[in-house]
Amino acid sequence: MGVVVLLGPPGSGKGTAASVLAKDSRWIHLSTGAVLREAIRAGTERGRRIAPYMEGGRLVPDLLVTEIVEERLEREGPDTTFLLDGFPRTLNQAQLLDEYLERAGRPLLRVILLEVATEAVVQRLLGRLTCPACRAIYHLTRMPPRVPGVCDECGAALEQRDDDVESTIRERMQVYREQTAPLIDYYLDRGVLRRVDAGGDVAETVAAMRREMESVS
Ligand code: AMP
Repeated sequence: MGVVVLLGPPGSGKGTAASVLAKDSRWIHLSTGAVLREAIRAGTERGRRIAPYMEGGRLVPDLLVTEIVEERLEREGPDTTFLLDGFPRTLNQAQLLDEYLERAGRPLLRVILLEVATEAVVQRLLGRLTCPACRAIYHLTRMPPRVPGVCDECGAALEQRDDDVESTIRERMQVYREQTAPLIDYYLDRGVLRRVDAGGDVAETVAAMRREMESVS
């Protein structure tokens, strides 16, 4: 089918919502952050190049990230719809994505902007726990696992992400404002952007996103 882009600041819930939505097999969740973290963990050449950017909360170079996304999109047949979580994050990446979609004959179906206040996202990120094995996401108070510190889905020990510390969170928010927020106008001009209030609980956000997705897939 094509791609749906999820846009929004770090902590707006893109990953959490996408993983819920992707339980529906029509949609594949592609998180660039998760793919990059996996490359670092695997100790590949790519991983070594990527690590210093991610540790500092800065963006990995556009061409490298775009190459990773294209490789993943290429692996699925034309009937698949991808939920792109965390890509594109710069105008240059958005243009590279447009060029790729044009070449591949896949449409950009929607861009969903998750809106939430800055202080709320900082609190969300400070309490976030992730499963290194199956990538499930939890929150200490908003969405705690059944057994503290243990993943409900696969039983692995939950971790806090290295970049979920206050100084790096502030840097990531700044990067979002400067480099990613301009994409809102870019996609508004194209008439594909829809806004979703992501300030409430996960179920409400997912329900609002689902309404936007149903109309395109
Ligand atoms: P996320 O898991 O989406 O919060 O991403 C975590 C980190 O991965 C970011 O702070 C960046 O360092 C890197 N990253 C993820 N997606 C991209 C992207 N599209 N472009 C550049 N860097 C990215």
